[in-house]
Amino acid sequence: MTPAISKAIFVALVIGWYLIRYKYARRSRRQRVISSARGPLETALLLTSLAGLGLVPLVYVATAVPRFAAYGFHPALAWLGFFFAIAALGMFHLTHRALGRNWSISLDVRENHELVTNGVYRRVRHPMYSAFWLWAIAQALLLPNWIAGFAGLAGFGILFFGRVAREEQMMLDTFGDSYRAYMARTGRVFPSLRKRRSGNSSSVPFSQHLTKNDWRDC
Ligand code: SAH
Repeated sequence: MTPAISKAIFVALVIGWYLIRYKYARRSRRQRVISSARGPLETALLLTSLAGLGLVPLVYVATAVPRFAAYGFHPALAWLGFFFAIAALGMFHLTHRALGRNWSISLDVRENHELVTNGVYRRVRHPMYSAFWLWAIAQALLLPNWIAGFAGLAGFGILFFGRVAREEQMMLDTFGDSYRAYMARTGRVFPSLRKRRSGNSSSVPFSQHLTKNDWRDC
């Protein structure tokens, strides 16, 4: 492992992410948005995350700027970053596959939106955000620069903490008790062992694919 290979792995992560996203984004775009929590705050959060996970590290890869923040390269850290990058891409693929046409870059509810609670969504409510956390950790391990490496954790962290509660509120407003029950048995970014145990003790049946309209009919 060399610094050049380590940077190339980061670029491959960005390209891999783009290819996965492009395929699924085209499908979800065909589904009309019926309500949205988009606004200036969402735009600012998205731009912050984009800068931290993409712009700042890619400028560093291309130019080594900011030079003053450079530190020594450790092959072992870069290898660890490689495995985190693979895990991030695998997780991205699985989350996009499970969310399908329900995916949005921002906080939208689409026509015939389904609450997805299967696959990687079975134990975790925000596995796509788990994938971005894995990306941000990979970035910190692959790029030996205090600013470019840690920009992902800062940028995505701001998006995550600024958005996740509002996203859950939007899902509660849309799916009501189905989402409440889903929250009770899942963790946000990690599976919750405690909830798993209490979830198993409850045998209340739960519809895995309740659509917004079905819910209204209940
Ligand atoms: N927070 C999720 C999804 C990110 S994409 C994750 O990290 O995996 C954001 C969009 O996904 C939001 O607009 C919301 O409408 C939708 N969404 C979030 N959780 C969902 C779920 N369990 N089922 C269906 N759509 C969901």
